Amino acid sequence: MTETTRYHATREDLATVLVGEPRYRVDQVWRGLYERLEDPEEMSALPKALRARVAESLPLALTEELRRVSDGGDTVKYLWRLHDGRPIETVLMLYPDRVTVCVSSQAGCAMGCGFCATGQAGFSRHLTTGEIVEQVVRAARDAKRMDRRLANVVFMGMGEPLANEGAVWAAVERMHDDLGLSARHITISTIGIVPGIRHLTGRQLPVNLAVSLHAANDELRDTIVPINKRYPIDDLMRACADYLQVKGRRISFEWALIDGVNDRDSDADELAKLCRRFRLAAHVNLIPLNPTPGWPTRGSSAARVREFRDLLERRGVNATVRRNRGTDIDAACGQLAAGQPVALTRSRAAR
Ligand code: SAH
Ligand code: SF4
Repeated sequence: MTETTRYHATREDLATVLVGEPRYRVDQVWRGLYERLEDPEEMSALPKALRARVAESLPLALTEELRRVSDGGDTVKYLWRLHDGRPIETVLMLYPDRVTVCVSSQAGCAMGCGFCATGQAGFSRHLTTGEIVEQVVRAARDAKRMDRRLANVVFMGMGEPLANEGAVWAAVERMHDDLGLSARHITISTIGIVPGIRHLTGRQLPVNLAVSLHAANDELRDTIVPINKRYPIDDLMRACADYLQVKGRRISFEWALIDGVNDRDSDADELAKLCRRFRLAAHVNLIPLNPTPGWPTRGSSAARVREFRDLLERRGVNATVRRNRGTDIDAACGQLAAGQPVALTRSRAAR
C-alpha cells in the first residue's frame, strides 16, 4: 500500500502497487489513467481483483460535493472537498471551438487582492500535484462524455500558482507528458510574483503567461494588488519582457475593469505607455469586475469596457473583451470562494 493519491502517484508508486504483476501492467494502468481517462474499475483488460487493488491503493483526492451547471449548460462549476475537508473549485468551459478547464492551485490565496473572492477568504493551504492534475482529469472525463476533448488548461481558479511553484510545475509536466496537452495550451496566470516568472523563463516548456496587471502605475496598483509593494510594476515588466524574449510566447495582461478606479482614459494612456516603454507586445484581456461579497466597488459598464478597448487599440495596444462566463453560478473570474463565508479584508489590501 502507498499513501499517495491516484494522480499524484508516479510510475514508481504504481509499480509498487502492482508488485508481483507482469511488468507491462504499469504501462497499461498508466495509459488507462492518462490516455483513456479511465477509472481502475473501467480497465477491462485487468483482472477484477487487480482493478480493485489499484482503486483502493490509489484513492482519489477530490470528493465531488456539488456541481453547478450554468443556464446554457456550457459552464460547469465543481465544488470539491479535499481529504482534510477543505473546499476548492474547478470550472469547465465548453466553447463551440474548444474546451477549457480553469483549475485551482491553492485552497484560498494569501495575496489579499480585495476585489477577489478567493483573496477575501484568505489562505488555507497549497494543493498537491495530484490534487491539481485530478481537477484536469475529472473535467476532461466529463468533457469526453459530452463528446468533447479538453485541450486547454488555465491556472485561473483559486490561488496564486507562482506561490506554489513546485506542485504547479510538476502538474504542468504531468499534463504535458502524460495527458498529452500542448504547453501552448496551458496558461499560468499570476498576480506578478517576479521570481516565479523568472523561474518560468528558465523552464523548458513554453507555457502561456498571463499577468493580472489591473493598473499601470504603482500608486494605484499598490491599493488594489497588495503584492505590488513587494514586486513593483517596473520589476514586473522587466520580468515579462525577458519571458517574451526567451520564450517567444505572447504575454497577456488581465485587466478587471473597476468603475471609476482603473477604467479612466488616463489608465488606458498609462498602460499603452508602459507597453511601449518595455517594448511589450502584450495582449490585454479586459473583463468587467465581477461582483464579490466583500468589495464595494462595481465593474465598469459593458459600454465603458468597449470604449476602454477602443482607447487601447487606438494607442496601438491589442485588446479584447473577455467573454464573461458563469456569473449565474458564481463561477466567473474572482468569484471562487468555495462557498466559504467571505469577510471584508480592506485592512489587508491597504497594508
Ligand atoms: N492568482 C492568479 C490566478 C487566479 S485569479 C492571478 O491573480 O492571476 C484569475 C483572474 O481573475 C485574475 O486575472 C484575477 O485578477 C481575476 N479576478 C479576480 N477577482 C476578480 C473579479 N472580482 N472580477 C473579475 N476578475 C477577477
Ligand atoms: Fe489571489 Fe489572484 Fe485572487 Fe489576487 S486575484 S487574491 S492573487 S487569486
